[in-house]
Amino acid sequence: MDHFLYRDGALFAEDVAIAEIAKAVGTPFYVYSTATLLRHFRLFDEALDGMEHLVCYAMKANSNQAVLQTLAQAGAGMDVVSGGEYLRAKAAGVPGERIVFSGVGKTREEITLALKGGIRQFNVESEPEMLVLDACAQALGVTAPITIRVNPDVDAKTHAKIATGKSENKFGIPIAKAREVYRMAADLPGLDVIGIDVHIGSQLTDLEPYRQAYEKVAELTQTLRSDGHNIKRLDLGGGLGIPYARSNAAPPLPMDYGQVVRDTLGHLGCEIEIEPGRLIAGNAGLMISEVIYVKEGEGREFLILDGAMNDLIRPAMYEAHHDIIPVVEPAVGAEQRPIDIVGPVCESGDTFAKQRLMPPLSAGDLVAFRSAGAYGAVMSSEYNSRPLIPEVLVRSDQFAVIRARPTFDEMIKRDTIPSWL
Ligand SMILES: *Cc1c(COP(=O)(O)O)cnc(C)c1O
Repeated sequence: MDHFLYRDGALFAEDVAIAEIAKAVGTPFYVYSTATLLRHFRLFDEALDGMEHLVCYAMKANSNQAVLQTLAQAGAGMDVVSGGEYLRAKAAGVPGERIVFSGVGKTREEITLALKGGIRQFNVESEPEMLVLDACAQALGVTAPITIRVNPDVDAKTHAKIATGKSENKFGIPIAKAREVYRMAADLPGLDVIGIDVHIGSQLTDLEPYRQAYEKVAELTQTLRSDGHNIKRLDLGGGLGIPYARSNAAPPLPMDYGQVVRDTLGHLGCEIEIEPGRLIAGNAGLMISEVIYVKEGEGREFLILDGAMNDLIRPAMYEAHHDIIPVVEPAVGAEQRPIDIVGPVCESGDTFAKQRLMPPLSAGDLVAFRSAGAYGAVMSSEYNSRPLIPEVLVRSDQFAVIRARPTFDEMIKRDTIPSWL
């Protein structure tokens, strides 16, 4: 459920008309709903009720400072995957003890930054990383709390580019090697081994892979405990999918996911951490774009928008589907025609949808891409010298620009000219 609904024929974000925001900031732009962000965070929080837990929002999904502060004020921790994200979390007021650091390529600089600034735990992904972390911690005279990310070798049944839990993926250590790696870690004086981490992929629409992975984690917990390790925290990753197309079957709800966690791991007495990103931010955002032209091609029509692949890359990169709806509600029974929906970038890949059934639209009309709050703005670029599009946050009847559109001048002045020119 989200808070983007038609009222008297006009699309609203909470109590603000989308057309009003478009008039104020120009198109294209992203708009997020505070109520939806908070609702999704609380669904996860409630799903783990009765177990000691922390929901660490995976901020790579949407790391705008205003989005982070909204969630941090509701009690969210953060899952970060770079020094930049760590500093963003800190800047949003998240204390170190609520920040977990994930990722396969943490550098010495990033590790040292987090050790100095305070960290809940590092989710370690390899033996070489473990050694670097140990050295950094010892150099600072501290111990680094760690979990080790294990790769449970389960098929998450999602898009290949966002599956992470098979043995051929670059993530974590093979679960079969876990005992040996935990033994190594326990011998390193700079490390404090506190738990296990697992994350099997993104946009999962089935709970079965989670059940399989978490059963393996439960078994590993017992094994490692009998080896003498104090396993007290389980980080279960993120990845629960969202309904990108209203016509598709709805993916599992956080409540059902929570039940899987309870069933598989509830008996272990561990503190549970989860790292949802997409499910918190995805359906809390729209991208709004204006129709520039309707073009008649050979046997097909094209809807050419002012938004493009540089603004929202998911269709080009993951063959992702986004529902695209007119900002003015079509009349009941309005005819629908198949049309290709494209952006102005000079690549055929700049196609949002092929032969999508749409009501009649003409130049100047606004459309909304649904489910654009996660992996949208954060993956945007200025390809074709199209300035980054603004982000807007709505709360009830208020809205605010939370990242302004740079001027052309600002964009150009970011480059500098060497002395020989
Ligand atoms: C990307 C990622 C997440 C979040 O995944 P979502 O599909 O957005 O929920 C969580 N944990 C780790 C380690 C990740 O890499």
